[in-house]
Amino acid sequence: MAQTHDVLIIGGGLVGASLALALDRAGVAATLVDAAPPAAMPAVFDQRNLSFADATVNALTALGVMQRLRAPAGAIRRIHASRNGDFGRVLLDAADYGRDSFGQVVVARDFGAALESRLAELPRVVRLRPARFLGFGDLADGLREVRVGGGDGERILRARLVVAADGTDSAVRNALGIAVGRHDYRQRLFVARLRTQRAPDGIAYERLGDDGPTALLPRGDGAWGLVHGVAEAEADRVAGLADRDFMLRVQDAFGWRAGRFLEVGERSPYPALRVVAQQTTAQRAVLVGNAAQTLHPIGAQGFNLGLRDALTLAELIAGADDPGADALLEAHAARRHEDRTRTLAFSDGMARVTASRVPLMRPLRGLGLAALDRVPSLQALLAGGAMGYRGDVPALCRRGAA
Ligand SMILES: Cc1cc2nc3c(=O)[nH]c(=O)nc-3n(C[C@H](O)[C@H](O)[C@H](O)COP(=O)(O)OP(=O)(O)OC[C@H]3O[C@@H](n4cnc5c(N)ncnc54)[C@H](O)[C@@H]3O)c2cc1C
Repeated sequence: MAQTHDVLIIGGGLVGASLALALDRAGVAATLVDAAPPAAMPAVFDQRNLSFADATVNALTALGVMQRLRAPAGAIRRIHASRNGDFGRVLLDAADYGRDSFGQVVVARDFGAALESRLAELPRVVRLRPARFLGFGDLADGLREVRVGGGDGERILRARLVVAADGTDSAVRNALGIAVGRHDYRQRLFVARLRTQRAPDGIAYERLGDDGPTALLPRGDGAWGLVHGVAEAEADRVAGLADRDFMLRVQDAFGWRAGRFLEVGERSPYPALRVVAQQTTAQRAVLVGNAAQTLHPIGAQGFNLGLRDALTLAELIAGADDPGADALLEAHAARRHEDRTRTLAFSDGMARVTASRVPLMRPLRGLGLAALDRVPSLQALLAGGAMGYRGDVPALCRRGAA
């Protein structure tokens, strides 16, 4: 006899696990399915540095996650954006917006451990792992059948709502037959921990270059979180560089604002992709997080946006009789539209500016940054996005939601 679940979340990564917490807080029992076994965190909880927007920090505090971080988070009090070889730069200060910080830098591995520790406290959340989504069965009587395979073979689950939180290559999205728009920016991003002469002091630096961004994020452990983008054609060569030569290369791209680069940790490479689902709902199914949209990491928006997908869904389900009703799913798509569209356009625009080698673009880009630094209304728009306040903001994102 197949088990029946109200809300079946496929994917216990950053967004899926956060959704389970938000549903639990709303009194809704969720079942969280992940391909990774209980003893191993999903691979996505790795050494990447995540900038949590202010709205995200508020929500994760209300959900009891920020309090469980073992390593201190690094506050982003100012954002400094400039372009290699161009005139102009932007400096945004959180104090100008009445805030202590735009957000916090957290290492994904630490975030995973904090989520896990919080989930372990909630008896209502059911975990199925290792359990891999294999496909759908029947769709009848207000229930969708799901086939999963795991340690004890294949089994069938039934759910009133299936949530696809299974990441960029979402098998759930494919099984639903939802098409995607895909763009490969032909860049590889190297992420590493970096120590420099000057320790972080609350400034996040984003240096835009022809082949990708170089960002230094102020971690809470006295080191920087480095992201260095290189053209795909050069990526293997850069991966093979000795640490010293890698640091020389990055210092050349970034400059001296953080002093001399002293020591770099292990480098992890990531592709830079945009994968956008053409629709985010189907009958008794909804896509959230990277399954719905994967963005270039340059704007540090992917998880922040995905969390807002999840929180909006939890809000709608909290007050509903049927979590998979067509009207609820339509309301979700409608409420997410503005934030999704604007955040996608922002991240894509930033990514394309860094990738363009057209000489005529240079003065325009420089002017853009210089102008932005002088026009408070434009800055406020940028800062609002950086803090995660776009569109119809979920209640948990507001200050004091806890
Ligand atoms: C270098 C880098 C830096 C980034 N920096 C930031 C940042 O600063 N700020 C920000 O907001 N975002 C950032 N992001 C984006 C962020 O990492 C993603 O948006 C986020 O991981 C998406 O979470 P998700 O839960 O949707 O998907 P994922 O985190 O990919 O999780 C998917 C989960 O689904 C599981 N799964 C997959 N297939 C199946 C299956 N068939 N059955 C069962 N389970 C399955 C996986 O095990 C995994 O646990 C960055 C990304 C990169 C690459």
